[in-house]
Amino acid sequence: MQELPYRQIRQSAKLSGVCYDIRGPVLDEAKRMEDEGHRILKLNIGNPAPFGFEAPGEILHDIIMGLPSAQGYCDSKGLFHARRAVVQHYQERGIHGVDVEDVYLGNGVSELIVMSLQALLDDGDQVLVPAPDYPLWTAAVSLSGGTPVHYLCDEGADWFPDLDDIAAKITDRTRAIVVINPNNPTGSVYSRELLEGIVDLARRHGLLILADEIYDKILYDDAEHVPLASLAPDLLCLTFNGLSKAYRVAGFRSGWLMLSGPKTHAANYIEGLNILANMRLCANVPAQHAIATALGGHQSIRELILPGGRLRAQRDKAYELLTSIPGVTCVKPRGALYAFPRIDPEVCPIADDEKFVLDLLLQERILVVQGSGFNWPTPDHFRIVTLPHVDDLDDAITRIGKFIGSYRQ
Ligand code: PLP
Repeated sequence: MQELPYRQIRQSAKLSGVCYDIRGPVLDEAKRMEDEGHRILKLNIGNPAPFGFEAPGEILHDIIMGLPSAQGYCDSKGLFHARRAVVQHYQERGIHGVDVEDVYLGNGVSELIVMSLQALLDDGDQVLVPAPDYPLWTAAVSLSGGTPVHYLCDEGADWFPDLDDIAAKITDRTRAIVVINPNNPTGSVYSRELLEGIVDLARRHGLLILADEIYDKILYDDAEHVPLASLAPDLLCLTFNGLSKAYRVAGFRSGWLMLSGPKTHAANYIEGLNILANMRLCANVPAQHAIATALGGHQSIRELILPGGRLRAQRDKAYELLTSIPGVTCVKPRGALYAFPRIDPEVCPIADDEKFVLDLLLQERILVVQGSGFNWPTPDHFRIVTLPHVDDLDDAITRIGKFIGSYRQ
């Protein structure tokens, strides 16, 4: 057959600067290796189900019971009873003055992050995003025409954001600040004082607060989660959360975004958000039937994070093993599902951390994510999930240790 003179089909220029390395080129290589029959230990994605973390039975039950009535589209913001449950949940957590109309349900927090930024940003507007960050935030700012400006989280201070660095990076183009607490990838859980400092900066500079709190129930030791919006009743805050992590149903794609604080001055922005919510018609309806059950029901995540619980034991094991590798240090994660260790460049110099994780994959069949994938500026970190059983973590981290010991780039 003769080749037609096909015109090149190219990606949009809007994608320049958009990058999501958690599912990037190294994962493509891992898939290729799996196709060839290799078994890869995937420590790259915070997806509880494949590691044997099952959803609470009542969630599955209520989704199944709700299925017959979930066949049609629903209101673009979501089912009333699910949004009511979100409001009540946050009232109990100190966020007052919110209404069912302030809640938007989405196909995971991911969709709502993109919507919130697309409704907000004009070309060149700046958004303060942590470094390291959950990279969807940086990518979504860029996709929306904005400029991500990274503020430093300080490894020497339990990975807390550096308030002076944030203050120094605020300009007259800064529109919003993103705060991820508990943090992915560092596992840091921020103190009330620190959060008050962030709120104070947002207040003084008129910034919109974007609080990603999807790990708010995955806390270890004595860590306490303070909802950022509860400290800022006088500021417009968007709080993001969902069922993917604490309720272990990432595949159902169910999350929410809740507006709180004064809204009159933001009526135009909220209208934009409504347009985008309407354009995607509505979120997956069956999964919305689990939201009230999840928030109001038995919080089985607690059994996993308390002493003796599986997640807690795995966090402990991962920390112990990582910090016993010569040249590796790690701030002990106090929340979430990850560790973000540092490799001392004096012990193991790495020029290109994507190559480092690719070489680890090729040699050890273990998949982790390079620190630069989280917009960390120097090639000396990687992220590992703490989801596997302790025996698997033991095997994987011991092999990572040996790999680092002999690795030369
Ligand atoms: N925010 C953070 C900090 C995350 O770590 C993730 C997923 O890993 C998400 C948002 C996306 O979650 P969802 O499954 O609700 O889209």
